[in-house]
Amino acid sequence: MSLIYSRIFDLSSGLVPESFEADICIVGSGTVGLFLAHLLNKRNANFLLLDAGPLKPVSTESIGYLPDFSSSVYSGATEGRYFGLGGSSSRWGGALIPHSSFDLREGDESESDTTNTWNFILNSIEENQQNVLSSFDFSYDPLFCLTSIPFTECSLHKALAGSGLSLWQSLILPFSQKNFIRFAEGNTTNSQSTLIYNASVSAWQFFPGDSAGLRISSVNAVSLNHKKVQVKAKRYIICSGAIESARILLEISAQSNGAYSAEDNEVGRYLSDHLSLPIARVDPIEVPRVVSLFSPTFQGSFLRNYRFLLKPESANLPRSFSHFVFRQKDESFYVAKQILASIQSRQLPSISAAQTAQSIFGLARLAGNKLINSRLHIPPNTPCDFCIDVEQEKSYTNAVTLTSKRDKFNRLVANINWGISLSDKSNINKLSSLYLDAWARSSTLPNLNTLPFPTNIAENSASYDAYHPTATTRMGNSKLSVVDLNLKVRKFENLWSSSTGVLPSPGTANPTFSVLCLTAKLANALCPE
Ligand SMILES: Cc1cc2nc3c(=O)[nH]c(=O)nc-3n(C[C@H](O)[C@H](O)[C@H](O)COP(=O)(O)OP(=O)(O)OC[C@H]3O[C@@H](n4cnc5c(N)ncnc54)[C@H](O)[C@@H]3O)c2cc1C
Repeated sequence: MSLIYSRIFDLSSGLVPESFEADICIVGSGTVGLFLAHLLNKRNANFLLLDAGPLKPVSTESIGYLPDFSSSVYSGATEGRYFGLGGSSSRWGGALIPHSSFDLREGDESESDTTNTWNFILNSIEENQQNVLSSFDFSYDPLFCLTSIPFTECSLHKALAGSGLSLWQSLILPFSQKNFIRFAEGNTTNSQSTLIYNASVSAWQFFPGDSAGLRISSVNAVSLNHKKVQVKAKRYIICSGAIESARILLEISAQSNGAYSAEDNEVGRYLSDHLSLPIARVDPIEVPRVVSLFSPTFQGSFLRNYRFLLKPESANLPRSFSHFVFRQKDESFYVAKQILASIQSRQLPSISAAQTAQSIFGLARLAGNKLINSRLHIPPNTPCDFCIDVEQEKSYTNAVTLTSKRDKFNRLVANINWGISLSDKSNINKLSSLYLDAWARSSTLPNLNTLPFPTNIAENSASYDAYHPTATTRMGNSKLSVVDLNLKVRKFENLWSSSTGVLPSPGTANPTFSVLCLTAKLANALCPE
């Protein structure tokens, strides 16, 4: 693999200088960190990336970052994140979905900072989405924007007419582009860029504070085999994912003699994910109609997918969305998918020779359908579920905090208190009924058979969170928010943070695209073009 950075070090090799200097130090070279580095690279900025993991990302358990759990296990902090170059983009679905006006909740005084923040996020998306999409070589297309499906798509509009649902679209990256390591690959090097991997940040040093806040002077990172490095930078950007960014900020606070107190900062609080579950199954006889109307369609090598949102009359309910999930049982399709996923994660697929032969049919059918129908191939007997994703209610006690335990890197281990509350369950019930009623209002939509509400939703929580952790490093204008609207960490002069943790809540979309738009804005502020 040829990487664009001019200096690349494996901290665990023991062959790394003791200290480095850079203008900008980015902590985390995952989805957001590599995207930021890509934008800074284009500006020929002087930056250094530190990443805890190796060149090919590994699991939370392998790296030794498992938190303690004081209630349910939150799988967004276990199987929902990966460590190393490319981070979780090495395994994610690659759906790019902007948040939208459906995320606004006007008129509620207690929510005014949140509404203000969502407004800011929507403006940032509008300003930056074109730039972000062009980074994926997707030429700007008015079909992918904040508006719902245009009227040219008559069959879809006709089908939904009379229902209380609005149709929205998302863009799914081609497998070859899902892993953000693509932003680090190539031959053109920036002479001022450095990557140090197998380097977990562990200790922070500070200049004496002044009125603008505390100023970080340097950061130490350590490898599993206890090799150390120190980085001195003018500015530090934490891009370590929603859970770890909160843990790092709490640790920075502890190391700076308590920059935060519970009364004046809510770092780690309000951890909230989408609760995701099937609520109805399409009548088997209707599956071909659902496929012809709503299965993903190709737009070049990208896929366009559809989601249904409740019209804003139901604004007093948590934000949510719904979509179809096609549960492909076809073995050759499964194998073909495994191969494509291994291309994404840059690993060898674990399949037998016989399965490999089978995959040829799967891939041929996928390619044939793409060529002829511009649609993803879905066999007519595929079970198809109508699923909803509902954001969890704001809860102060759903939180990332620090324990007094130390991990293998001598860092304080995080504790996660997370659970699905009675209000969450009641919200899911209410929203399920609203979605199904709205669907049934149209006389032309395919029939759905309601599924029973799972009795074990709390015990079986792992199946119901969607790896979209938010709000742990919440942005806003309020004094209690962790970062301001420019993603600058409150109380610190030269510290910023970008991850899905900055979103006030999961909202009506998968979170990453909106965060990439905020990160593009941050890149402009750090290093104007
Ligand atoms: C299976 C799956 C499917 C998903 N599908 C979608 C989807 O379709 N659409 C969508 O919008 N979202 C999706 N998501 C969520 C999406 O993957 C995340 O929102 C996104 O990858 C988060 O990016 P990040 O940069 O904040 O974190 P990551 O990509 O996890 O990167 C964090 C990086 O920080 C490094 N790091 C962590 N701690 C330290 C430390 N102490 N020192 C140094 N480095 C550190 C890690 O090694 C890692 O490289 C999915 C997630 C999963 C797991």
